[in-house]
Amino acid sequence: MRVEIVAVGTELLLGQIPDTNSQWLGEQLAANGIASHFHQHVGDNHERIVLAFRTALARSDAVIVCGGLGPTQDDITRAALGEVMNVELERDPVLVNAIRAMFQSRGREMPENNLLQADVPRGASIIAQTRGTAPGLICPIGQKVVYAVPGVPYEMSDMFERAILPDLLARERAAGQTSVIISRVLRTWGSSESGLAEAVGERFDALAADGRVTIAFLASGIEGIKVRITARGDDDAHAARLLADEERQIRTLIVDRLGEIIFGVDDETMEHAIAQRLVTRHLTLGVAESVTGGLMASRLVNVPGASQWFRGAVVSYASEVKFELLGVPRGPVVSAAAAEAMAQGARQVLGSDVGLGVTGVAGPEEQDGQPAGTVFVGIALGDEVTSVALRLPGDRPRIRAYGAISALDALRRRLDQL
Ligand code: ATP
Ligand code: MG
Repeated sequence: MRVEIVAVGTELLLGQIPDTNSQWLGEQLAANGIASHFHQHVGDNHERIVLAFRTALARSDAVIVCGGLGPTQDDITRAALGEVMNVELERDPVLVNAIRAMFQSRGREMPENNLLQADVPRGASIIAQTRGTAPGLICPIGQKVVYAVPGVPYEMSDMFERAILPDLLARERAAGQTSVIISRVLRTWGSSESGLAEAVGERFDALAADGRVTIAFLASGIEGIKVRITARGDDDAHAARLLADEERQIRTLIVDRLGEIIFGVDDETMEHAIAQRLVTRHLTLGVAESVTGGLMASRLVNVPGASQWFRGAVVSYASEVKFELLGVPRGPVVSAAAAEAMAQGARQVLGSDVGLGVTGVAGPEEQDGQPAGTVFVGIALGDEVTSVALRLPGDRPRIRAYGAISALDALRRRLDQL
């Protein structure tokens, strides 16, 4: 069973609002093992909406339309459905009463055009509205079906859960085709998208032949690159088995070829990876930030319960603060030696087990003879003080943001050596 989503609304095409409805519907369909191969956006134009419906019906078994069911002139989904079904619209007396009653109960005068929402294409059934005034529609077209729901997100989601999903699942059962789709995201930092694609390239060929498991790369900026593995199985256990098997193979290829770049799965961020490692080792962390100017601290305190392991941060931006507060020896402050001294200083000033210091050049001008993007990360842990030198791309905000996650990643790798 293939379901296509058509989101109606000129504001979507103009980029005035993001299409969160399609995103949400796509998630719900996938979670219920229902494939959706196409999403369309179409403006409030009768001919183009009709064309979108016909296109969808030609290649999909069911279509979910959201938007354009309201009472105003630009709400023309209903009329377009009538044309595609080749039937007249009929005013439904029960709906008329319901709409009148809704206005009465709110003590409001009803504008006459609200009754347009009681117009139903002949042969369609109604999804009762519990929240707004526009009812949803279930329109059978041959063996196929179009579901129409309002664009307002909470009305749409309510009708999906109450009426559309049960109807879709019943249709799947009737056709004897149920399946379960699950996915898992591996989160990486430190490789390029092409590097990752090359590392796991051999799996692509194997998977293309099979079709039950797919992999996708999602470049997510300062959150790194995500590798999403999706498996479709006959039931929960089958899907879980396919997914686990693929994850194992992908992990092995990535680690063998690119090293320990996987820092988490699904919703786990880099700061969660740090928190988890510090907590299991009973260590606390203090941070000294120059180029990142508080970004690291800001990320670390995203984790609930951070006070358990995070002592705090010194934003030692001016050189004098590095020298006087953190005890960094006078000299060039963009250097490995300065980063290491900042890490030690942070540990001492903040009374933590681990110290992390970051200094660098955010640009656009160079500093201490170092070009923009130069970042040094110092880590003080036990008797050892180590440092890593990085060269980061981008403009000032990107260098700062990349600097923060790169420094946390360096700390993650250092903690894994314990
Ligand atoms: P109404 O009865 O409220 O007029 P409608 O079915 O006519 O509902 P629209 O007029 O298309 O729906 O949209 C109503 C509101 O719902 C929009 O102003 C917008 O805020 C939101 N909306 C519409 N489509 C989407 C979408 N695809 N994703 C997220 N929000 C949407
Ligand atoms: Mg509307």
